[in-house]
Amino acid sequence: MDVVESIDALRQARARITASVGLVTTMGALHAGHIALVEQARTENDAVIATIFVNPTQFAQNEDLSKYPRDISRDLDMLRQAGVDLVFTPTAEQIYPTGFQTWIEVEQVTQGLEGERRPGHFRGVTTVVAKLFNLTQPHRAYFGQKDAQQAAVIKRMVRDLNMPLAIRVCPTVHEADGLAMSSRNVYLSPEQRKAAAVIRRSLLAASAAYEKGERDTNNLRVVIESLLKSEPLAQIDYISIADAGTLKNIKGSSDKPVLVSLVVKMGNTRLLDNMLLPASLNTIEELTQILGGA
Ligand code: AMP
Repeated sequence: MDVVESIDALRQARARITASVGLVTTMGALHAGHIALVEQARTENDAVIATIFVNPTQFAQNEDLSKYPRDISRDLDMLRQAGVDLVFTPTAEQIYPTGFQTWIEVEQVTQGLEGERRPGHFRGVTTVVAKLFNLTQPHRAYFGQKDAQQAAVIKRMVRDLNMPLAIRVCPTVHEADGLAMSSRNVYLSPEQRKAAAVIRRSLLAASAAYEKGERDTNNLRVVIESLLKSEPLAQIDYISIADAGTLKNIKGSSDKPVLVSLVVKMGNTRLLDNMLLPASLNTIEELTQILGGA
């Protein structure tokens, strides 16, 4: 596995790969969710490139940039074991040199949900992802369902800017008790970690109600809210029940696929998870097509 830090070295290593390339972009502190993306990339491409970059421009002022977990040697071991061919670990100075002033903004699908809670977040994400696409020139790039709005935003950017690659959205990987894997889970105290399983339980309860025929989003919201409120350590940031194609909130009911997104705060840690309903829509093809529209 080649590990390169500079843009020049990346370009040289990329030029040596003539076969198809799958890209997995990460902020490091890797877990099985990231590795699932790598494994999917391996099955669909001849070579896999991974990037590790804690992107400062996607963190708002009050967020956890300086304490975001970092463990590069462990990350590289995991990527090597997963069969990655090339890893790019740039510095912030290389990605944002002095004088940097070009940004990519996706206008609509960034409104609401995380975009509303984290001003500027998606501008940072789309700008860095576009740069990483330019630098690594992948045929396919892999994103996790856990950050469903991010996947929808990137799909939109790729379509709008005619970027020559396919976006693939892969199912969220969960811990045994149902907590979605996240680099930020290390911030949780043992009590918070235990309590966090309520997030998945709430989504599964909503899914069970949906399977029984419940389509009224107010009723689905009540199912989720009452479970979340039964856990004293969990503070609800938001419960969104949105059209999975547009990510606009649904009032009343809808016959189209629905994305239920939850953000729960445990102390200062924001934990995300979501579920596409009907829950039978869970293959990579379905997630890729439905989230953010075809
Ligand atoms: P991050 O390092 O958190 O920026 O995430 C890098 C990529 O991994 C993004 O596409 C995430 O959506 C994806 N990802 C993060 N957590 C998970 C998970 N639990 N399951 C699947 N994909 C994930």
